[in-house]
Amino acid sequence: MEALGHEDETLEYDLALTGEQREIRETARRFAREVLRPVGIRLDRMAPGEVIASGSPLYDALAQAARLGFTRLRAPLSLGGLEAAPATEHIVLEELAYGSAGLAGVIFLSPFPAAAAAASGNPELAAEFSAPYFACNDASIIGCWAITEPNHGSDQLGVMRPELRVKARGDLAARRDGDSWILNGQKSAWVSNGPIATVGVVNVQLQPRDGLEHGGVCIVPLNLPGVSRGRPLDKHGFRALPQGEIFFEDVRIPRRYMIAEDETYPAHVENTLTAFNASVGALATGIARAAFDCALAYAKTRIQGGRPIFEHQSVRDRLFRMASLVRAARALSRDVYVYNLTRLGRGEPGRLDHSITSKVFCTNAALEVATLAAQLHGGNGMTREYPVEMFVRDATASTIADGENAYLGQIAASML
Ligand SMILES: Cc1cc2nc3c(=O)[nH]c(=O)nc-3n(C[C@H](O)[C@H](O)[C@H](O)COP(=O)(O)OP(=O)(O)OC[C@H]3O[C@@H](n4cnc5c(N)ncnc54)[C@H](O)[C@@H]3O)c2cc1C
Repeated sequence: MEALGHEDETLEYDLALTGEQREIRETARRFAREVLRPVGIRLDRMAPGEVIASGSPLYDALAQAARLGFTRLRAPLSLGGLEAAPATEHIVLEELAYGSAGLAGVIFLSPFPAAAAAASGNPELAAEFSAPYFACNDASIIGCWAITEPNHGSDQLGVMRPELRVKARGDLAARRDGDSWILNGQKSAWVSNGPIATVGVVNVQLQPRDGLEHGGVCIVPLNLPGVSRGRPLDKHGFRALPQGEIFFEDVRIPRRYMIAEDETYPAHVENTLTAFNASVGALATGIARAAFDCALAYAKTRIQGGRPIFEHQSVRDRLFRMASLVRAARALSRDVYVYNLTRLGRGEPGRLDHSITSKVFCTNAALEVATLAAQLHGGNGMTREYPVEMFVRDATASTIADGENAYLGQIAASML
């Protein structure tokens, strides 16, 4: 019989949670267990084209998440959001990723253009992109963040550190034409939600001036003339999260859609990376906890040497190591998330090095826990009868998403 994984309360010890946070956690936990886990496993086994086809269970899962409020947790009340505390958001992210890391990615990234428009301080943009998104309960508006380019992966992320900034011609350029910007070029196949997004936050290279390279960030409706997509990517992990190239051919956007340019560009990238790396820390904690729960349940039922393998010392050692990593990942990722999202929410600078520490530690922890979980399943850890092999693949992908860990370490080290 196929095992979907198990719920376990072993790791709960947080006295600081309010009654409301416990309720939200229970709702997110139930949704993760009853909807995201089974749908995530189905999507994981489908071809990338089927995952994005109309009628795919992905859209219903996203719409359900929207109806539960999980796509507007952070948004201001005035725009239809819930203005949830950062600790609440962290709890929800961890729970969603416990169900399915790929679907948690779909749900987490979808509100980004709406949130960026709201944060721009331009009421016209908020009315155009934020209010409709936060009112939308049917997954008809889906967002993405398109920064990575075929020839610029890590190089796109270190722009806030002079020693890591690289001068190179971008694969997607924007040039001014009167009151418009015109975009030409492409983003890489790694854009999460790229094949299904209706709107994107898109990082572009602006025309060099004074011999200097400049960057910009714009919000782009992805139904504009000149926008096209590549084939959805067939990949190893996060298979429930569609990814694919976006092409731009003479795509014209009004000037107001450019929300950061020139001097404000590095800070915009830094703030986004600070928020996203903190979030990936929470998602990775969810993957690690899911793998631990499956391993613990398996160890208590699998009999070898005449008793449950849980009773063998080396198995206990491994489970203790896994539980320690999950507890540490949760503590670190929640602390960093609350610190940075509180500061960014107030319009104050965050600490990217803290977020990178969380992202790198938690994703490495998730990979170690998932790998140990697969080993504790013996041969069953290699089969699709159990979800642990998927957790190994998802954890591997998390070490590269939003910056490959070794490169992120270079950014954080440069801030020491
Ligand atoms: C699951 C997932 C989700 C993602 N989601 C998105 C998304 O939503 N939007 C988006 O735009 N992109 C997304 N990405 C892309 C991701 O941000 C990039 O893959 C990542 O930044 C690395 O870029 P790259 O793949 O081009 O690798 P490269 O930059 O080519 O790096 C290859 C290797 O070289 C190392 N390296 C590179 N430069 C240096 C250096 N200066 N010093 C030392 N080592 C270096 C790296 O550490 C890495 O090990 C996603 C990726 C994954 C896997």
